[in-house]
Amino acid sequence: MDAARYYGQEDIRVEDIEPDSVGPEQVRIDIEACGICGSDLHEYTAGPIFVPGDAPHPVSGATAPLTMGHEFSGIVSEVGADVTDFSEGDAVTANPIIYCGSCPRCEAGQYHQCEALGFTGLAANGGFAENVVVDAERTVSLGEVPVEHGALVEPLSVALHAARVADVSAGDSVAVFGSGPIGLCQIQALRAAGAGPIIVSEPRDERRARADASGADVLIDPTEQDPLEAIRAETGEGVDIAFDVAGVEATYNQAINSTRPGGRVAEVSIFEEALETQPNDLVIPERSIVGSIAYQGGPRSGEEFGMVIDMLEDGQLDPDPLITDRIDLADISEDGFEPLLDPDSDQVKILVKP
Ligand SMILES: [Zn+2]
Ligand SMILES: [Zn+2]
Repeated sequence: MDAARYYGQEDIRVEDIEPDSVGPEQVRIDIEACGICGSDLHEYTAGPIFVPGDAPHPVSGATAPLTMGHEFSGIVSEVGADVTDFSEGDAVTANPIIYCGSCPRCEAGQYHQCEALGFTGLAANGGFAENVVVDAERTVSLGEVPVEHGALVEPLSVALHAARVADVSAGDSVAVFGSGPIGLCQIQALRAAGAGPIIVSEPRDERRARADASGADVLIDPTEQDPLEAIRAETGEGVDIAFDVAGVEATYNQAINSTRPGGRVAEVSIFEEALETQPNDLVIPERSIVGSIAYQGGPRSGEEFGMVIDMLEDGQLDPDPLITDRIDLADISEDGFEPLLDPDSDQVKILVKP
């Protein structure tokens, strides 16, 4: 079958490979759609980060080259001998978290904090392929959600998890720095949580328009106005909670300084570089900052994924403003990675359709 394999920086090759075999507790999923994620782009430009480059991943045993793609949905086409929860023909997505099961954080049920944390599609073969094999434990039924929308459950779960980690309550004023794919998911998750006003700072016109369609109340173009002044004009003393979803020095510091005294910041980005910051911006106004990675995984795989699927069924979340293109697997570099890395492109979420 055809699969897009990560070899190293700026080196993704579509190759004909032998599909993985299905173990007794696994299922094979024929891919309907697989989204290209910001973390795939980080691997492409600055990796390997999550992809095991030199040593094999301690749990999966995989090393590059491997098939990328961790935001996928499709139809179960083969079930292992011991699988009872799924049958051929089921519409599913899969929680990509790979975990060891024996470290203190896994024993505490926080599989996404595992010391060996990895992801299907980054540390094991993923969904930029005709099919993928995953553990039944990490497979999640899509219910009434259209199969293609299932590819958005993973990024929406990142945003839902961040809203929970940041302890958002209805009525909290919030700021979101960056409205790329995760930023748009964040806006939707905050709207569903009843937060407001939702103030979004984003330099690209097309992304601000999609932020508007996703439920933002106030839009700021940081190339035209100082976002901190605009946020203070809107809220008086600053927002209750800010989300940095852009992951650069400017937005990290803006997120901190956009909050009121005693406010909170959630950091939802993976950074390519270290940065300069003034810790007194946290200390003196007694602000706090919390990191958020991924979503509940392992035996809790269906927890946040299931909440997102329920919210998609209810119409509280809408993937359509995120999806900007659908492409063939063969064109993943030219029509997928390259436009997403082009600062003048209007692309946000590109779905690969094998
Ligand atoms: Zn992702
Ligand atoms: Zn662990």
